[in-house]
Amino acid sequence: MYRLDQNDTEVFALPADICYVLSFERADRHLLDIRMEVSTRGEPWLDFVLPSWTPGSYKIREFITNFTLEGVLDEQGHLLEVEWREKNCFRVLCDHAEKVYLKAVYFGNERSVRTTYLSRWQAFIMPSNCLPYIRGRQFEPHHLVIEVDPARWRHITTPLSPVDFGFPPRLGALTYDILADSPIQIGNHRICACTVGGRLHEIALVSDEPVDDEWIVRTVDRVVRVVWAFWGGELPYDRYVFIFHFAPNVFGGLEHARSHVLAVDPAALRELAGTHRFLRLLCHEFFHTWNGKRIRPEGHGPFEYSHEHYTQLLWLTEGVTTYYEILLPYWCDFFTQRELLVHLALEIEQLSHVPGRFYLSVRDSSFLAWVKLYGRSPDGPNRFPSYYLKGALIAWLLDIWILEQTAGRKRLQDGLRELWQRARRRPERGFTEDEVIGALEDATGVSLGSTFVEWLTDRGELPYADFLSRIGLQLQWHSALDRERLFGEKYMFGRLPGMRFTGLSLREERGSLVVETVEEFSPAAIAGIAIGDEIIALNGVRVQSLTQWDALIGMADEAVEVLAASDGRLYTTRLALKPRRSPRLQVQATEGSPQHRLFERWLCRPLPEPVDVELVPLSLWSPWDVEPRLLP
Ligand SMILES: [Zn+2]
Repeated sequence: MYRLDQNDTEVFALPADICYVLSFERADRHLLDIRMEVSTRGEPWLDFVLPSWTPGSYKIREFITNFTLEGVLDEQGHLLEVEWREKNCFRVLCDHAEKVYLKAVYFGNERSVRTTYLSRWQAFIMPSNCLPYIRGRQFEPHHLVIEVDPARWRHITTPLSPVDFGFPPRLGALTYDILADSPIQIGNHRICACTVGGRLHEIALVSDEPVDDEWIVRTVDRVVRVVWAFWGGELPYDRYVFIFHFAPNVFGGLEHARSHVLAVDPAALRELAGTHRFLRLLCHEFFHTWNGKRIRPEGHGPFEYSHEHYTQLLWLTEGVTTYYEILLPYWCDFFTQRELLVHLALEIEQLSHVPGRFYLSVRDSSFLAWVKLYGRSPDGPNRFPSYYLKGALIAWLLDIWILEQTAGRKRLQDGLRELWQRARRRPERGFTEDEVIGALEDATGVSLGSTFVEWLTDRGELPYADFLSRIGLQLQWHSALDRERLFGEKYMFGRLPGMRFTGLSLREERGSLVVETVEEFSPAAIAGIAIGDEIIALNGVRVQSLTQWDALIGMADEAVEVLAASDGRLYTTRLALKPRRSPRLQVQATEGSPQHRLFERWLCRPLPEPVDVELVPLSLWSPWDVEPRLLP
């Protein structure tokens, strides 16, 4: 049966005919030295393929660009002939050799949660970037030997399983898909751990700046308990690994079956909004352990890594996960009820500034993720909606719908649990859209019919007012023209800049303001201001910073004269200013009313209050004293 995950006990002492050996002598120059030993099993040739993309990140990245094959030898040290078959595939002519030995180097200098990165301080290996598989042999065990000098780098943190306790450390995966899905952090990072449900949760903290390790462990512990309570049953893994990269100006995450990787600016953890983003991201990636990795769209595994894997279901794996990344922090007690409603209102506001929702359905946005969402054009929001954003709002309306139709007895969670049970019964195959809707309907008894499919296929507004009112919520749009602030108890500030809407977003660049995005149909679009233009002056006053821009715009009347440069030439235009409108969610239902009861039901935690138990003390693990902990 096809597997996307494994337990450590299954891999211990398991032999493999395909083995990679990684060494790091040139890591300071971002180079990873790779050797590969493969039993040929008498085959006349073997085709080696390096993936072009990595699961969870739907973009062709052509990792082969950074991969150089240095040569292939037989047991006697004779050079074997190599023939390139495709841009990312080469054929080794085995010439009756029993084993072939391949030597390659990978240049890993892109720092992200999805790319291999090496430096003199650490190595972060994403096997899908740098380790080729052998066509037709992806489903057999693979070994990975890490030749690292323990005096230089003390720790290896990875969901890959130990094969033995020798040195250098030998790790294993049941299949190539599992290997590709298993990031490896090597270096002198800090390691913490907590045990939940009898499973060890390791946390690698990769950070030059201090972060509060104890707080991180407590937070992880809380998230694991609440997400686990959401899904019920047993935790679907024997061990889980969190790899947290703390570095300036980064933000992102990537999920795997038994691990995930987050990148966050440590400065964000020193203020509320940044910490909220971190908490949402943490809940999001961990929720994927179920929704996205184990409940997955048809075709998402086994993977063919050279070409796109299309799916219309990213509204489920990403949209539904984004909805719960907002509710889960509330259930974890990280957000107040007010903050929960503010986060949801912000999603509505964000989508209201995506004119692309009128051009592409969320289903098609998912299908075209490879060239749309991951294309990252600054004009993108004008042309299509994100399946994360619109998918999350669809999930919310769906949740309300199920609550209302069942008088609060069922909710979206029940449908997802049913999907999880079905996924467990047939892990070898993912779901079609019809199967997903079928499972949601069977579990809740609500006939979703054509209305739900319309939300997925429509290019228009979602029926917020109608559905929110069913749980006693009202969506109100406020315009914030002037703001008031006081000194002491009652002495007023002078007039402060108000919030104006122009449809422009700008960035500061070497003392000037450059247009980053222009919202379709907005005053800026009507004024003919374009992405990439440089804004020079407003009403004859030179503007060089965002603070100055905000002040001038905020104090101006109905329009300003803009002097800007496009393509090296100056132009002037009139930019109208509209009051900025923001949505607010108000609880309107009176206590005791049916709507209010549904509202309370919607808010209530999925299961009994998770108990706080003592954390495992910070435990330093090095692969060379692994025996007490990972013995099967
Ligand atoms: Zn996600």
